[in-house]
Amino acid sequence: EDVGEHLPAGMKNIIAGKKLKFYVIDAVKIASELGLGSRINMIMMAAFFKLANVIDYADAERYMKEAVQKSYGKKGEKVVAMNNAAIDNAISNLKEVQYPECWATTTEGVPMNHVKGDAYTNDVISPILHQEGNKLPVSKFDPAGRVPTGTAKYEKRGIAVKVPHWIIENCIQCNQCSLVCPHAVIRPALIAAGEETPAGFETKPAIGKAFSGYQYRIQVSPLDCTGCGNCADVCPAKNKALVMEPLESQLDEQPKFDFVATRKQPDVALNTTTVKDSQFLQPLFEFSGACAGCGETPYVKLITQLFGDRMVIANATGCSSIYGGSAPTVPYTVNSKGHGPAWANSLFEDNAEFGFGMCLSINQRRNYVASALEKLVESEKSSEALKAACNDWLANKDSAEGSKKASQALRAAVADIPEGACELVDAVKQNDDMLVKKSIWILGGDGWAYDIGYGGLDHVLAMGEDVNILVMDTEVYSNTGGQSSKATPTGSVAKFAAAGKRTRKKDLGMMAMSYGYVYVASVAMGANQSQLLKAVNEAESYNGPSLIIAYSPCINHGINMGKSQAEAKKAVETGYWPLYRFNPTLADEGKNPFVLDSKAPTGNYGDFLAGETRYKTLTQEFPETAEHLFAKAEAEAKKRLETYQKLAEETIL
Ligand code: SF4
Ligand code: SF4
Ligand code: MG
Repeated sequence: EDVGEHLPAGMKNIIAGKKLKFYVIDAVKIASELGLGSRINMIMMAAFFKLANVIDYADAERYMKEAVQKSYGKKGEKVVAMNNAAIDNAISNLKEVQYPECWATTTEGVPMNHVKGDAYTNDVISPILHQEGNKLPVSKFDPAGRVPTGTAKYEKRGIAVKVPHWIIENCIQCNQCSLVCPHAVIRPALIAAGEETPAGFETKPAIGKAFSGYQYRIQVSPLDCTGCGNCADVCPAKNKALVMEPLESQLDEQPKFDFVATRKQPDVALNTTTVKDSQFLQPLFEFSGACAGCGETPYVKLITQLFGDRMVIANATGCSSIYGGSAPTVPYTVNSKGHGPAWANSLFEDNAEFGFGMCLSINQRRNYVASALEKLVESEKSSEALKAACNDWLANKDSAEGSKKASQALRAAVADIPEGACELVDAVKQNDDMLVKKSIWILGGDGWAYDIGYGGLDHVLAMGEDVNILVMDTEVYSNTGGQSSKATPTGSVAKFAAAGKRTRKKDLGMMAMSYGYVYVASVAMGANQSQLLKAVNEAESYNGPSLIIAYSPCINHGINMGKSQAEAKKAVETGYWPLYRFNPTLADEGKNPFVLDSKAPTGNYGDFLAGETRYKTLTQEFPETAEHLFAKAEAEAKKRLETYQKLAEETIL
């Protein structure tokens, strides 16, 4: 009866105007009752064949059930039975909507054009999202190929079935939920005394000396949430402070989130090397189209929180280029000053070089500014105040925070000098975007870093420039459909390795460490959040090439993506994935540069493999091969860990 309340007028006009037969089905309810979670594909397919009548439904049913056997047979009889039941239940739950004739001419309905924002959003993004991109004139696009950032926030897709609900009294204010959210949907807010807040905005006194006098709240954006459940899963509060509730019941939270996202967080001194404090920083990467529970995006989001206002990103092709810059919206965004990551995507095969080129061009322009300032210092015409500002910048140009302060002072010192009065000052003003030190990041997956782009990656590491490289290791070519890469471990099933990969995973970290002057870290957010924070901060501040290899659970692994953080924890606990940091500055201080951060394995290696479809499949299809390859994989992992233990004990490199 209430279907009409959810449809736009235009859609009602078409349905009634063409006298269409109109059906609805609560596919989510059927799927969750059958234990299929949010997987509604079989239900919708059955409904389609029943109604479309393109072939006899009895035949369609037979074909679908054969396909179920083929697709899910490997996963066991229970999964097959659930999917067959989904097909049967779909048909019995189809409901025809008896709509009134007035729908043919009605002007009432939900607004079609729900994407509203600036001119670019209204004129370009909105039509594309409504499948009308073909009608856009070329003049709407920038000839240089640039697009504005910060536009994913206008989508408000509302795709989650359930979203987290915060239970204020249970929360211990650890901010872990915010750290792990792949979509930057759940955020802590600090509220100053006397600040006006929206209705129903419950808060509690913030814990911690630095936050005394402030109120605290965790705020969710229901319409941006994907419902993955990782936040609730990691919440360490004794009585969980997050529970997943139906989306409809949480819609009142949206205006509260909009308030949190658009206000400026109070200026509290933060120690951003800690998990808790880092999460009070604004994420400059939000609401991407990555899969629910994605293991890659929480890393990208964290890095933008820490360095986003001065970040330049070269992104390899792969998942990260798709969720990072899929038209028409962009998840990278800006802070209240309009500063945020500048992003561009190159190819699989040259991304490291692409980022290296950015680095060289920035160095060139900054050196140009430096030489102009040196001349200003020498010049008799310069005032003492100007000379002091120039010297201050020259002394601080390679420090992130130092260059921010010095740039402000320099801008003030040259502000009153009119254009044309001094060509050195003009040169400084023309290169204003180069005053603050840049944070250069080269991002991509294992398909890029271990395989196709490896030659370039190795070259860039060897060049010694100050670049940061993040490899989000899913151990497979995720975006192109799960082909095996050199990061795929022994025994894992992937495309081109259907009977299990025969050779071991390449040790990219070890290869990079052999240079001696490359900072290298192996991290896994789900396993050790503080180690990750340490690694990211050390890598960024290291004045040379840095490589972070980040374990990234992925839908290709065949796991419950609502527990992707927990899965990464298991990977480390069983010795499947080691955590370490290799910091060349320690060697300069006469210390061992290598620190093994993961403890001796406690969990069972075989149990970890058995919990992921990419391995389980091999046991089901080729049990003997599986036994042999898994034993080999375990032995290899053990050997690798022993090598690391030795490295940690003595300074070999
Ligand atoms: Fe983020 Fe997933 Fe939690 Fe939604 S359910 S807030 S997407 S972690
Ligand atoms: Fe609060 Fe749980 Fe979030 Fe920690 S993870 S801040 S306890 S809701
Ligand atoms: Mg990958």
